[in-house]
Amino acid sequence: MAEASVRTEPVTAQELAEALAAAAAQRQSIKLGTPPVPGVPGEVEISTSRMTRLLEYEPRDLTISVEAGMKYGELQRILAANNQMVPLDPPWDDEVTLAGILGANLNGPRRRLYGTARDLVIGMTFATLEGKLVKTGGMVVKNVAGLDMGKLMIGSFGTLAAIATVNFKLNPIPKETATFCYSFDSAAAAFTLRDRVLKGQIQPAALDLLNPAASQAVGLAPTWNLLSLAVAMPERFLREYSGGTTVDNQIWRAIANFTATSNATTIARYSTTHMGMKDLVRDGIATPVIARAASGIVYLYDPATLPQNAPYVLERAPQGADRWPKPDAGNLAVMRNIKNMLDPHGLLNKGALYGRI
Ligand SMILES: Cc1cc2nc3c(=O)[nH]c(=O)nc-3n(C[C@H](O)[C@H](O)[C@H](O)COP(=O)(O)OP(=O)(O)OC[C@H]3O[C@@H](n4cnc5c(N)ncnc54)[C@H](O)[C@@H]3O)c2cc1C
Repeated sequence: MAEASVRTEPVTAQELAEALAAAAAQRQSIKLGTPPVPGVPGEVEISTSRMTRLLEYEPRDLTISVEAGMKYGELQRILAANNQMVPLDPPWDDEVTLAGILGANLNGPRRRLYGTARDLVIGMTFATLEGKLVKTGGMVVKNVAGLDMGKLMIGSFGTLAAIATVNFKLNPIPKETATFCYSFDSAAAAFTLRDRVLKGQIQPAALDLLNPAASQAVGLAPTWNLLSLAVAMPERFLREYSGGTTVDNQIWRAIANFTATSNATTIARYSTTHMGMKDLVRDGIATPVIARAASGIVYLYDPATLPQNAPYVLERAPQGADRWPKPDAGNLAVMRNIKNMLDPHGLLNKGALYGRI
């Protein structure tokens, strides 16, 4: 495998496009950012981390446009001055760049209320291997015209093109928020409350279920804990669902950063149904389990065995592990066709998408 020989850190979108085109013209393998899969070949390394400018901010329109190398923490600080936010809750929260968040489609607990990057990004510019800068979407919250290529880039792990700039729709920071913790001695009992909340009138911004090992790791009692982030008159939530104790809102930061701070050598992420979660999130698992209980996402940290009954990817794994054992054959074929259209010679971040694309 070729060793990385040249590192490029463009500071403008145009320079980024030129760097990609120059490498592609030479048929050089390109490593974009830091792919989480080891062994991605890169005769040329390109990082967007120096593209950090604020391009346009319209607080009254609830929109912002920034270069993709800006750090998430910096974006939140700019927005907080106007009581606004992009509530993505990624791991590595202060350090991660927006390009990294979008490339890997990182998200966290508040996806329940606010959605993920595909819901919050309203426009984007990306650079192709042909050296073109492609604009998609815009600066308006309701964008209906055209094919939304930005959605394709989100979660592509830099295998298709390089994101240069990104436009977000913004949310106001809620005036009141409170975190309520409901403790149980079994997973089944916790799911009974979860099911009630799902059918209820008052919906939380986040609803995470932690097993005893995960609870202990974030400083809670080592039992099953269902954590609810209530916004807009949170006391109503507690009246509706009694028995919760109030815990510091900071706990969500520890939960969002669980992957970043965990020593686990294997991290499996399952996407399943609300009911399907009950098969994965069970009593008797000694290692940490965190479930986005109202979103169908389950993270298993260092599981003794990987349950096969739901599709999963390995977000972290020992070298050589099959990171994506059961891709849907039809979807994979479509993904490979798209890859061939944008990168016919397989130069860009080869294998970065869980070892498959
Ligand atoms: C699934 C996953 C597992 C990880 N596991 C570990 C771990 O075990 N240990 C650890 O220390 N860190 C891990 N990391 C963290 C990682 O190394 C970075 O610290 C983190 O992703 C933030 O860095 P970044 O913003 O520089 O993005 P990067 O890490 O550079 O990028 C994240 C993804 O986005 C892509 N990308 C970057 N820039 C662009 C762009 N401009 N356009 C399109 N795509 C782009 C990258 O190729 C990569 O696939 C993991 C990250 C992910 C996403």
